[in-house]
Amino acid sequence: MDTPLSDPISRYVRPHEFKMLIDGKFVGSAEGGVRAVLDPSTGQELTQIPLSTADDVDRATAAAQQAQPAWEALGVDGRAACFARFGELVAENRERLAMLDAIDCGNPVKAMRTDIDICKAYLDGWPAFARSLTGDVIPASPGNLHYTAHRPYGVVGRITAFNHPVMFAITRPLPSLITGNTLVMKPSDETSLSTLALAELFNEAFPPGVVNIVTGDAGTGDAIVTHPKIKRLAFTGSVPTGLIIQRRAAESGQVKHVSLELGGKNAMIVFPDVDLDLAAEGAIQGMNLDVCQGQSCGSNSRILVHAKIYDEFVNRVAAKLGDYRVGVAYDESTDVGPVAGKAHWNRVNGYIESGVEQGATLVRGGGRPAGLPEGGNFIDPALFADVTLDMRIGTEEIFGPVMSVFRWDDYDTMLAEANALDLGLTASVWTNDLAIAHKTADAVEAGYVWINDSTRHYFGTPFGGVKNSALGREESKDELLTFLEQKVVHTRLGDPHTALARLLS
Ligand code: NAD
Repeated sequence: MDTPLSDPISRYVRPHEFKMLIDGKFVGSAEGGVRAVLDPSTGQELTQIPLSTADDVDRATAAAQQAQPAWEALGVDGRAACFARFGELVAENRERLAMLDAIDCGNPVKAMRTDIDICKAYLDGWPAFARSLTGDVIPASPGNLHYTAHRPYGVVGRITAFNHPVMFAITRPLPSLITGNTLVMKPSDETSLSTLALAELFNEAFPPGVVNIVTGDAGTGDAIVTHPKIKRLAFTGSVPTGLIIQRRAAESGQVKHVSLELGGKNAMIVFPDVDLDLAAEGAIQGMNLDVCQGQSCGSNSRILVHAKIYDEFVNRVAAKLGDYRVGVAYDESTDVGPVAGKAHWNRVNGYIESGVEQGATLVRGGGRPAGLPEGGNFIDPALFADVTLDMRIGTEEIFGPVMSVFRWDDYDTMLAEANALDLGLTASVWTNDLAIAHKTADAVEAGYVWINDSTRHYFGTPFGGVKNSALGREESKDELLTFLEQKVVHTRLGDPHTALARLLS
């Protein structure tokens, strides 16, 4: 294809080979398996990535294990120097990495530049947190000294989801690395290109074997989960996969430390006293439509609006959604790109059909906008009103550009509906009454709650959910400790007078 649209592809994809990184070398799968990479904006095949097997995971783990003692011995300063170099390389390669996420994942390129810029806070922040780690001296018994020390697990297995590929590949490994662990990382098989491009930068900034990147499907992930030398697993993905990972980790016959960052069906609660324009804009921002088409774990895909302002709120959201331009992800003017894969496109469209069938009102969107490439996975953001808890669009995580608006007039019933699901990642509360805002923030079952805001979360604040949405928290200092095993050293000091008399006699 020799059109302006193909320019980023001929520049950032076609001339390159995308290989895995194992022990400082760029390699294909040992068995030669590959997976075709399709452009979600056009449906065309772009390139291939390695589809690795348990043998590849084993090689990567052996490399990580061998590299670990020297990496730990570098100390925080030595490791932080690698982070700093890596950060420089990421900044130099910003355009390429952002374009690869747009081309491969479908997220708008404008937003992917921001995703990369956000990483700086993490690259600077994790070394700072690691320098401030301390142990404890505990006065547990007289005549004894008890202190705590921390040691890394060794090799950490990290498996990530498809929706923010490069940001996850840069930021998620950092707490495990700064604490002296080495890594075997697998990005989503749907969106691996930017992580494989990043492999070159990891390789330049870190010693061989410290960061190993394998690509592949569920089988590759399972080989990481069940590998006997990987005792610490960190996973970002869906609830069903998270449950499989817990089970498979246990079936490996080892006790593994598993942390899980999973899905959400997050409630936005809107009281009748809000600034309607601000809340309507917040509802759209909270969907992350212009970042990743609503394919975000934290998106406020369930919006609970008080009856007094319901119609006007829905009208304003609908009008504002009309300003968002759906288009090819690597086109600068695009606000909302295609969803990541054809199967996912079918899945999201299935939800939209079910919403109509189950009696919700489709206020706008839901179709494929005209004038875009036929093979692209485009969906005009759908806004549903009159949604209730007996509808699939009201209870299941769609992970796409679909907003479901519920109506409420009784506070307790609304709160029961907000808390009715097994999920509890984020929530937001919109009111100008601070007492009501804090009462509701306290009562809503979620791990991260905004008051009069949405979507933004900052490095240093613990991110994660309650119920089936998570096990553990990320992005805050406490996460560091989860990559370290604690040890207590107990020294019997005895009676100092007796010891002194013996020594001096
Ligand atoms: P997914 O669960 O299908 O896949 C996630 C990763 O797990 C991929 O790398 C995949 O290849 C791998 N995998 C699949 N089956 C596996 C198995 N049996 N064993 C080991 N690995 C396996 O999720 P997805 O579709 O990539 O991502 C969407 C989901 O991720 C949504 O539910 C979303 O809410 C969630 N998510 C959560 C967060 C968070 O921070 N809480 C962030 C992003 C995405």
